[in-house]
Amino acid sequence: MQEDMQIITPVQSEVSIITEQEDFDKPRANCAVIGIFGLPEASKLAYLGLYALQHRGQEATGIVSSDSHSLYRHAGKGLVADVYRKRKIFEELPGNSAIGHNRYSTTGSSSEENVQPLLVTDRTGPVAMSHNGNLVNYRELRSFLEEDGAIFRTSSDSELILQLMARSHGNTLQDRIIDALKMIKGAYSLTLLTEDKLIAVRDPLGFRPLCIGKKDEGWVVASESCAFDLLGAEYVRDVKPGELLIIDKLGMRSVKHVKSKKLSYCIFEYIYFSRPDSLIFGDNVDKTRRNLGHILAKGHPVKDADIVISVPDSSNTAALGYAEESGIRFEIALIRNHYVGRTFIEPDQHMRDFGTKLKFNTVAGVLKGKKIVLIDDSLVRGTTLRKLVGLLRNGGAKEVHVRISSPPIFNPCYYGMDFPTRKELAATSKSVAEICQAIEADSLEYLTIEELKSAVPSGNGQGYCTACFTGDYPIKRDDVKVSRKIS
Ligand code: SF4
Repeated sequence: MQEDMQIITPVQSEVSIITEQEDFDKPRANCAVIGIFGLPEASKLAYLGLYALQHRGQEATGIVSSDSHSLYRHAGKGLVADVYRKRKIFEELPGNSAIGHNRYSTTGSSSEENVQPLLVTDRTGPVAMSHNGNLVNYRELRSFLEEDGAIFRTSSDSELILQLMARSHGNTLQDRIIDALKMIKGAYSLTLLTEDKLIAVRDPLGFRPLCIGKKDEGWVVASESCAFDLLGAEYVRDVKPGELLIIDKLGMRSVKHVKSKKLSYCIFEYIYFSRPDSLIFGDNVDKTRRNLGHILAKGHPVKDADIVISVPDSSNTAALGYAEESGIRFEIALIRNHYVGRTFIEPDQHMRDFGTKLKFNTVAGVLKGKKIVLIDDSLVRGTTLRKLVGLLRNGGAKEVHVRISSPPIFNPCYYGMDFPTRKELAATSKSVAEICQAIEADSLEYLTIEELKSAVPSGNGQGYCTACFTGDYPIKRDDVKVSRKIS
């Protein structure tokens, strides 16, 4: 019942983001979810898992734990290392089960109340939820609920799911979740926690990854399997698209909440978002990303190049693939400073000019007089790439030939990734030749969409979403214009 619903205010973190100044020149990763069931000190395991999944969201993080009697929550803005700095926090998160979340906001602002897991109490008791993805019918459903008297505590799409569950007349939690899922459209990989159950849900198209692992007598559910490696859990399988998994003291039960007619795994997870040491969609990210590099080298060679280098770290694997295929030596020539966070203070334009230099430096001895192939995984606005090409030339490079291990991006994502606006995407207003000129490279080539499709495990792109490249959105949004420009 709506009136029984109570949202518990998040615990304030001592650390807050001062300002987010990172160049928005990569799609911003969405979120990470984790769930632990039946393991001692579950909140500590969730914390470690969130550490492994930090790359999927750096804006805020939270954990809710259960000791079978109550749910306990700690959450705040900032990195995992900052938000759980005090040991006492884990004493306040007791129990053998927990869920966690790392957030980068794609719907709703980055304000404190949007930090997840969300924790509510409805007529059957407390329920917590973490969401990775984005609902495309958010506006429509929110208006519908508001007109019907609902009061929202957050501006995130995730709260809609809890609101819809609270309004369901279903007798069991499972019925109420399924009733809510019938109303929502879009991308969702969810973990939910009650006093005695961990629940994992994936949308019928399977946009975002979610997998199950086993550790001792307990279970772990995570966005990516790299979390299992840290926790010593063994990968069992993916949560299937359209599946709802209930884990409690009786074991694990699978319920098909909706039939999957087709699949739309996010192809960008392989290009950039997921960690190369993860299994996602049942396959190894490193293998597919390396394959992107192989195919890029075959289709887009650079004659007589001396070395292949990458924009670290996300392009390292594709660059290795390019080097393997082309026989050109892989070198490390750009060094990334890992201690420049997303939150460093840039008070004025003068300081901003140092941004790229602060993050990257060149290894001059490696570059001197060399014809270079520079591999980047994606080109969004091209602003950082232009600065990097300049850095490489200043470092002594004779020629810089840029190869991108994905096709040009023409469209935003509505399924949980954040891109700059269509106007800001380089490919929407410039030809490849014009972008090459803008980034001041000697040549620029991208992977074609056909090449990309041939690189993923299905071998032909079947079962993958490619909408940001092609405009073929698997779930339409009526208010969206699509660009299919081919350069
Ligand atoms: Fe992934 Fe692009 Fe599809 Fe979004 S639009 S789900 S980023 S492939």
